[in-house]
Parts: sequence; C-alpha cells; structure tokens
Amino acid sequence: MGYLSRNNRRPPEYAGKGGHISIINEEAVNQFIQRCILPSVNEPVDMKPSNLIDIEPLDNNPIEIIIAIDGGYGETVVKKEFPSSTLTFFNFGALMFKVADLENLKVQPFIDPGDIAKLKRIQRFHFVLPTRNISLEGDTLTNSVRKAFFDFFTKSHDGERPLMDALRWLIFQQYDAGQPAPAWRLASCPSCEAKNITITAAMGEQFPCEHCGETIYFTDIFRFHEVVSDEVGAGGIIGYTIALLEQMLIVHLIKTILEIRPELLKRILFIKDGPLAFFGQTANLHQPMRRLIKFLSRQDKNAGNIYIVGIEKSGAFVDHANEIRDKLRPGQALIIDNEYIYKYIIPGKADPNKPYGSSTYYGNKVIFRTREDKLYVLTLPTPEMTGNPALNDFPGFFIILDNVARLKCDMYDDALIPVALVNKLVSLSQHPSITLLEQYAKGKIG
Ligand SMILES: [Zn+2]
Repeated sequence: MGYLSRNNRRPPEYAGKGGHISIINEEAVNQFIQRCILPSVNEPVDMKPSNLIDIEPLDNNPIEIIIAIDGGYGETVVKKEFPSSTLTFFNFGALMFKVADLENLKVQPFIDPGDIAKLKRIQRFHFVLPTRNISLEGDTLTNSVRKAFFDFFTKSHDGERPLMDALRWLIFQQYDAGQPAPAWRLASCPSCEAKNITITAAMGEQFPCEHCGETIYFTDIFRFHEVVSDEVGAGGIIGYTIALLEQMLIVHLIKTILEIRPELLKRILFIKDGPLAFFGQTANLHQPMRRLIKFLSRQDKNAGNIYIVGIEKSGAFVDHANEIRDKLRPGQALIIDNEYIYKYIIPGKADPNKPYGSSTYYGNKVIFRTREDKLYVLTLPTPEMTGNPALNDFPGFFIILDNVARLKCDMYDDALIPVALVNKLVSLSQHPSITLLEQYAKGKIG
C-alpha cells in the first residue's frame, strides 16, 4: 500500500481521506484482507530486456507544434431547495505551442506573461449538461441529457465545423475514401430499448427508430441514456464525458489539419491529459479511434504519421512508476505488457485473450524516466490491439518520447509545460480565435 505515503503528490482533495486506521481493526476487514493479494514490488521486478528502451535525443526533431488538449468541469446547484437541481459545466479546449517558443521558455524559472502571449490558443468550448432534477424543454432528465449532447455536437462553435462532422468522419471512416463506410451498431434504442440498431451514414444526424418511431440522435451512440437515471441523475457520466469531449476535439483537429494541409500532421504532437482510452458507456469508441490511428500510421499515406500521447498524473500506474523509478536508468523507457500489468500493478490474473485495456484503450502504456529525471506514465497509440506490445508496435515511439522529455517543467513535479500552462491559461480572458492553426498552416507553409 505504498501509494498512500505519496499523498503530497496528490491534489489536496484526495490527500486527507484518512480514517483507514480505525477500519483496519474491524475483525471482518482483517479476515478479508488476509485472503487478499495486493500488488507489490517488494520482490525484484522482472523487466523484459527487450521492453527497456534507451531514448536518445533526436538530432532533427520533426515536431514543430505541440497541441495540448485539456478539460475540466464543475457542478453547480441551480436550485438549493430539496430536491436540488444541478447543472455541470464543461470547459475544454486545445492550446497550440510552437516547440521553438517552448524551448526558449525552458531556461526561465518563471513564465513571463509576455511569453504566455506567444503560446497560441486555438479554442475553448463550453458545454452545459443537466445533471440532476433539471429538464430541457419539459423532457425527462435522460432525454434532456441526450438533447444537450446532440445540440452541442450539431452546433458550430466560434466558426468551427460542428463536432458532429468529426464524429461521423470517425465512425464512418470518411477519412478513407477507398473503404465503404461501415455501419455502427447502437446497443439499444433510448425510447423502446430495442437492441442492436444498425446506423448507416445515409441515415443522417437523427432518424426515427425502426421499432418505435421515436427519434434517435446520432450522439446516442455515446449510450448515456443507458446510465442516466431520471431520479438519481447523470452524475455517473461526468468523468466519461470530459474524456469523450477531449478526444472528439482531437479528432476534429486531425480532420481539420488533413483538410487544410495534411503534411502538417507529422509536425504536430497532440498531448492529452489522461490515458488514450474511452471509458464507461463510451468505451466502444476506442475501436474507430484505433482504426483512425491505423489509417494515419500507414506509411503509404501522405499524412505519414500521427503523434499523440496521453499522460497520466495519478492512479495505479503512476504509483507503480514511482515505486520502480530507481530500476530505470535516466533516459530509459519501459514498455509495459499485459503480464507485467497483472503481476505488478493491477490485482488479478492476466488473460492473454483479453489484455488490459482491450475494450477501452487505443494504445499501450510506457513508463518513461527522462535524462533530467522526470517520470511519466504515457499511453502511445498502437494501430493493432496487443497485450504484448514491443517497440515496433508503436509508430513514432522515439519522436514522441523525445518531445515529452523536451517539455519538462521545473515548476511542477513531473508535469509537462503545456499541461501545466493549460491550467493557468484557462483563467485568462477568452480569445475565441478561430483556426489559428489554419493561419499557421497558411502563413508558415503556404
Ligand atoms: Zn425505439
């Protein structure tokens, strides 16, 4: 249970959750714990030599732009009297940085406001979700949630194309003109609960259910109607929603770049807070996302490559990384496979047929100790699902890791400059600028 001693690395809201001392005296708890096996690294950790990779700084860094995606949310009570009503505000966006600007920043201990101005913002989105005892136009909470997603995805924000375009582009593989658009299978109709409803590209953004005739929105593929309760609320989907929105923004940006200037894509590194995965009801979206990664990683394509990295700041993998920190040399990365995960990190037994993350991730994890002794738990995209990843399964492995190492941030423990800055910038005045990326593409390369 070593991770409890690392409270000082955690956000304050998690730090003070004590109370375990008294519980541990309960006889029933004691008996239960004696039957439990807790993951431990007290024994020597067996690292596959082929999964230990030395990361050398690149002589020529192909990455010119970093795009950091971030998001946050807050719930607000709009009616205090019982039963109270709540809305949740989501705020997410992308920040664009030129690598050259970031490298100049790095030598300063503090970031100058003037330098912040150099860091280019792309856009911020605001999304409001009814989460408890609130009705949109007199409908049930479940339908209000569905409608909120549909409205948000079909509206243009600050002159950008609606996220619906990106979503359909992803699901129906419109990026690959050579392939017929696949159909999507919706698990259940939100109104009559009929199972396995086939959705094709031709059916549009909304269409009547073939069983009950009620409207199905394309955004119902997020399946939130399955877990929102009109009585209990929509609190259960909030965490999944932010990860969904952030990744839809990545898809939107990839699509935009491919339309404006495809060759720009291989000069960009996308950084996402958290793992490259979709959770809960939205988990199925990892499949089309992996297909997109696979398509973009094909060497015969003009786009050539896609560089995305997810960075975890807390959780079992981060705890484990800290425990084995000294077992990695500075400048060394460890690819972690299924067997390793279930031996040292996650309790349970490895199942080769169902590797860790096989129903949620579109990448695999790497622990990276940089030459400057920063430690990161990363997800790098892998075009094929595998529980036994090797170096060759990660397109752009060295490019991504070298750039992660370059972006070290001295102000924050194991934080990257863009990710740390994102939080600062969120509070600055909003510049609803459109397509700075487009301007960059046109000005720099046009
Ligand atoms: Zn129906």
